[in-house]
Amino acid sequence: MDFEPAYTPEQEAFRIEVRTWLASHVPDVPNLLRDTPENYQRFRQLARDLGARGWLFPTAPVEYGGGGLSVDRAIVVAEELDRYDLPLPPVYNSGGRLGGASVLVWGTEEQKQRMLPRIFRGEAITWQLLTGPEAGSDLAGTTTDARRDGDEYVLNGEKVFIGGSHDVDYLWTIARTVREGERHKNLSWFMIPRNLPGITIKPMELLGDGSEGVGQSWKNTIYFDDVRVSADDLIGGENNGWRVASTHLELEHGSGGRIGRNRWFEEALRLTSLMRREGKPLIEHDDVRARLVDLFVRTEVSRLFDLRNFWMDRSHVPMTYEGPQSSYYRKIGGLEASQAILDMVGPYMLIKDSEWDHSNGELESYTRLAIQALHPGATTDIQKVIMARRIGIGRDEQEQAGRTGH
Ligand SMILES: Cc1cc2nc3c(=O)[nH]c(=O)nc-3n(C[C@H](O)[C@H](O)[C@H](O)COP(=O)(O)OP(=O)(O)OC[C@H]3O[C@@H](n4cnc5c(N)ncnc54)[C@H](O)[C@@H]3O)c2cc1C
Repeated sequence: MDFEPAYTPEQEAFRIEVRTWLASHVPDVPNLLRDTPENYQRFRQLARDLGARGWLFPTAPVEYGGGGLSVDRAIVVAEELDRYDLPLPPVYNSGGRLGGASVLVWGTEEQKQRMLPRIFRGEAITWQLLTGPEAGSDLAGTTTDARRDGDEYVLNGEKVFIGGSHDVDYLWTIARTVREGERHKNLSWFMIPRNLPGITIKPMELLGDGSEGVGQSWKNTIYFDDVRVSADDLIGGENNGWRVASTHLELEHGSGGRIGRNRWFEEALRLTSLMRREGKPLIEHDDVRARLVDLFVRTEVSRLFDLRNFWMDRSHVPMTYEGPQSSYYRKIGGLEASQAILDMVGPYMLIKDSEWDHSNGELESYTRLAIQALHPGATTDIQKVIMARRIGIGRDEQEQAGRTGH
């Protein structure tokens, strides 16, 4: 079976259009230097420009600010951005990608018209706020409270590992609307304007600091102290939050797919051609070639899993275990790749700015990020738990996937 897509002349013409447009719009900034305040604004402008063309959320409905494009065109846009090593959206906007889709599935018509165009056109940045004390893998254990008071909810609580290093417009969060209520039936989702009184955002110091994509240099702790949120910003109805979460989590756990290559195979080729052992380049040694082949297979399978999920999601093909499968494989693959590269080139390469550092510090940050990446969007253990439930391992009934609906 050949499941690598072949493109029609019409699709290739669209690719040229996208490529030409990107060539004059993508800021020319090296990867590791992207996340300064000035560069962040340039990439935000790129997001707005993509949004104005309908290319930021290509398959989202036109009436809510999306592109209304077919899945094949969406793949072309994402592939062309990947040539610049940029994801879609090109700046950190986790809650837009996940919350936007959730509003599309669970929001009222009024909420869709009010919130989605700003998100889908890149005018608003949104962070997702899930994790908190007692609520990491066990999201339903959240201790953030939302108490109804007239036409408002009053939020109190704390969320950790949140967002990124620059500005934000909306906070997309889950809270208990019945404090002692039945588990999973006491939760609600809110799309909260960031500028409400009582919201404090404090940067956290973490393993991955300073080394991720645009807008992702660090994470934050966010405190809600008597934050009054309009009831109009409750999404999906009171105490219906776990069903809304099924959309959000389904996408975050890998079912949304992604387009893009892990570039560390190419980087490993470069490094092993450059560095020598016993008088000849590393790449000429059999053991190194064997590791490179393994690395190639890993990254290629991961790319194809993600491409498949991107297509399945946008084409509304029912999914079961595919989301956590690709997410798990990518995470474990990243860890194995960083170990393989270190085995080939040696640990001295990790000493940044030293005579042995031939990757300009990138291998050092890649190694840290490969460890850190095991956690967000459900840990590898949780991905396995979900897969077992979906496949039906050790149970009579197979768990259904959440509704993603866009
Ligand atoms: C870089 C990074 C970015 C993040 N970004 C965000 C963000 O933007 N927004 C946000 O809300 N959160 C974010 N997170 C938080 C992330 O979602 C949590 O770290 C994750 O859900 C795990 O929760 P925890 O850290 O509380 O660990 P815990 O849930 O306490 O887990 C601890 C360990 O126990 C294991 N474990 C837990 N339950 C089970 C089980 N049932 N079966 C088997 N093993 C289990 C876990 O796999 C883990 O190894 C981010 C985290 C990181 C590291």
